[in-house]
Amino acid sequence: MKTFEKSRAKLAEAKQVLAGGVASTLRGSMKPTPLYVESASGVTVKDVDGNEYLDYQLAYGPLILGHAHPGFNEKVSKAMAKGITYGLQHDGEIELARRLTEVLPCADKVVLSGSGTEAVMLALRLSRAYTGKSKVVRFHGHYHGWSDSIFTSFPSPDMMQKATSAAADSVPPGTKGQSELSLQDVILLPWNEPETLEATLRAHAHEIAAVISEPVMCNSGCILPLPGYLEQIRELTRELNIVFIMDEVITGFRLSPGGAHGRFGINPDLVTVGKALGGGIAVSAVGGRKEIFELIDSEQVSHLGTLNGNGVATSSALAVLELLTENDGAVYGKMEDNAIKLATGIRVLFEKHGHRGVVNQIGPVFHFMFIEEDEVTHFDTFQKRNSGKYAKFAELMLDEGVLVRPNGLWYISTVHEADHIEKTLQAIDRVFVRLT
Ligand code: PLP
Repeated sequence: MKTFEKSRAKLAEAKQVLAGGVASTLRGSMKPTPLYVESASGVTVKDVDGNEYLDYQLAYGPLILGHAHPGFNEKVSKAMAKGITYGLQHDGEIELARRLTEVLPCADKVVLSGSGTEAVMLALRLSRAYTGKSKVVRFHGHYHGWSDSIFTSFPSPDMMQKATSAAADSVPPGTKGQSELSLQDVILLPWNEPETLEATLRAHAHEIAAVISEPVMCNSGCILPLPGYLEQIRELTRELNIVFIMDEVITGFRLSPGGAHGRFGINPDLVTVGKALGGGIAVSAVGGRKEIFELIDSEQVSHLGTLNGNGVATSSALAVLELLTENDGAVYGKMEDNAIKLATGIRVLFEKHGHRGVVNQIGPVFHFMFIEEDEVTHFDTFQKRNSGKYAKFAELMLDEGVLVRPNGLWYISTVHEADHIEKTLQAIDRVFVRLT
């Protein structure tokens, strides 16, 4: 049995000076205790107690190249030697913007920011300025960052309960301290329900500035859009003068170099990307139609940020894009093969051990849940999962030396190899015996 005494002691120490003890609220939910890291390399994380883990959490998504990738580190260190940030312009911004317009099919132009939350804030602002309208349609179970104007319906167990009422006129705040007024422009709808969407958009078209959606509901079950659903959003928004924002903070550069919209062949008006883009460094972007960005060109819409476009961020993103797309993007096939092997293997182990569960996988990301249903295509069904059993599973996996998020979303990186997948399946086989 692994022990976590040093991590526990460090958490107690942190709590004296760091509110909550962790730097992002969600990290506090890890059982048996939030881990403190000594070092990490490739697919391996070593904690302060000397335990080693094969990592499928990947820092909640950014580490598509794994930890401390030598090629990435070399490129970024070289850039850092020339100065980190200038508050002035530099070639890295132009190079990155150009590269993003090449790989993201919907992007004529881009802007650079620091986090997914900021990218979403700007996309919403641009949508309002462009349409002259103020309401935003968003969906249950999706997550678009923690800014006051969009934070609701976060899929954590207790918030979920508050967020289940679909009434368009009562959008619950995602946290205490959030002005309820900040959500007055939000219309919260169930996702993957074409009729509700059409009826709402047609009835409120005069006041809706944007529909924002993850293209695959990665934050709640990695649920795929029903056939035709994203196309329907695209067509209705175009017809009704509503901006379609695809929030690709998770799917961007993960489902393909052009994200989910590149993979599915559906161009939104605006796309938000972050996480994998920086490979672990804070950088995000909004891309989209040049008519919308004219609002920034003409200085009607402000886009601010002291560290926007800094040299570490631009060199990181350029390094990630270069490493992902070399050899014709061969790593995408490798990541997807490994994800399919793991997802398929888990389904076989469900059968073998008599556990009921579902694995929803696309590209190098999947959600694994214990649930009685045979398939999970809607948020309502996703809520029926046994999250307590999964949390127990995640804890037992730690003991086996495998690090997974307590909520069920797994990421595969370019440095996961077939033998890692094999070892992981063997670990799951053993854990399924212990799991009641
Ligand atoms: N949008 C989506 C789809 C996300 O999953 C996240 C974060 O998990 C965000 C936005 C917010 O990004 P960040 O945490 O970088 O602010």
